[in-house]
Amino acid sequence: MKSITIEELTESINSYDPTMISDVLKAYQYAKNSHSGQMRESGEEYITHPLAVAYILSKMNADRETICAALLHDTLEDTKLEKEDIVIEFGKTVAELVDGVTKLSKMEFTNKQDRNYANTRKIITSLTNDVRVILIKLADRLHNMRTLSFKKENKQKDISIETMEIFVPLAYNIGAYQIKTELEDLSLSYLKPQEYKKTKEETDLLLMQSEGFLKEMLDNISRLLNDKNVPNEIKIRVRNIYGIYRRRCEGQEMRNIHDLLALKVIVNEVASCYLSLGYIHSLYKPINSKFKDYICNPKTNMYQCLHTTVFGPEDMLVQAQIRTHEMDMIDSYGIAAYWNLKKENASEVMQEVVENKCQFFKSLVEIDEQYTDNRKFVEQVKKELLGGNVYVYTTDGVVLQLPVGSTPVDFAYMIDPMNASKFVTAYVNDRKVADDYILQNKDRVRILTSKKSLPKEEWKDSVQTTRALTLIKKDLWWINLFLWKYN
Ligand code: MN
Repeated sequence: MKSITIEELTESINSYDPTMISDVLKAYQYAKNSHSGQMRESGEEYITHPLAVAYILSKMNADRETICAALLHDTLEDTKLEKEDIVIEFGKTVAELVDGVTKLSKMEFTNKQDRNYANTRKIITSLTNDVRVILIKLADRLHNMRTLSFKKENKQKDISIETMEIFVPLAYNIGAYQIKTELEDLSLSYLKPQEYKKTKEETDLLLMQSEGFLKEMLDNISRLLNDKNVPNEIKIRVRNIYGIYRRRCEGQEMRNIHDLLALKVIVNEVASCYLSLGYIHSLYKPINSKFKDYICNPKTNMYQCLHTTVFGPEDMLVQAQIRTHEMDMIDSYGIAAYWNLKKENASEVMQEVVENKCQFFKSLVEIDEQYTDNRKFVEQVKKELLGGNVYVYTTDGVVLQLPVGSTPVDFAYMIDPMNASKFVTAYVNDRKVADDYILQNKDRVRILTSKKSLPKEEWKDSVQTTRALTLIKKDLWWINLFLWKYN
């Protein structure tokens, strides 16, 4: 892979904010001097790495502080530079971003020493301070994964596992789809090279066979939308190799993976999304059960879109993903899209969105409050936030993300913490279930409460979320106090 030059970086930045250039050049010189004499395992000068990381971020229109911090991100770890030096030269914010990224690099999930658990905890809780630290770290990991071929084989596998365990879920939770899918594919290519190669060949073949009719569909849809005065931009999108590999593992046939091939239809406003949906269905018949409205029911990572699967030519099922330009930006870059959408106060808006709309960060704060033991804290974060999730519906059709293994009691405390202790029974898909029923994807959950009902001791053993556990313990404590007083 060709390395990025400082000219390419400044050109990329010039396209959205030329006023940043002088600061960026200063950070570049500073980083270059600090790393001078250091080499990467590829044999290139070390500075090529921070340059590449800054370049990835510039493609998301990252702000001044982020780009400077990206250029300086390895100076605290690998050179004699101190945080104080960066404060003096580039200000407190840049220094804190660099410091945050440095600490995040030292995070150890597998170490058995208590001291390390304490350190890991500090790092995890600091993730909520400034979400830009995560974005820089993700760009850093992306470039390291892209250049992983220069490392030894066992190192490649270790780094790939860590990427899948920590960075893929992080990218998912802040909605950075492009980064997430590339990280998944790169990891798979090192972890299971044979399967990666086979899946890629099959996908390429299918795409080659399908290109003709996909192009035909694209033209037909585009022509109809233009006739109806709906400005549009349509792209052909293939699911990433890892996504296809996962579905193959679940036993699905290549031709039956309904979201393998998709047409991304991008329009100007929300109303046009629904109009386009109608026009597309008038051209190609939909499968009713595959229609999803993520515009009115956004995913928990903020993703919004209309999904419909239609019968395309040659017996192929094709998914159409209909969205506005803004939704498309958020799909590709997640939280980072706000650099482009809210130019003036992007970093504040990002922080606000993360704290209020991302369930990941809300749960992180709750886990931090509940667990005093560092080891338990780290294990809970791993299980609850980086492990698998299930997605269930409330009676209002809102989608809720819960850790795998969650029960209706977890659900009750998640949607209505004030009244969950009065939980009586749960109905899942209109059928009564036990309190320790394990929720499945797409379950529709209804909770019945009663003023006279009290929380039960045994709930503590089956709930998965920290929120439920904390509140159950609190409620039980009050009840016991009450019983003690009046008996
Ligand atoms: Mn780095």
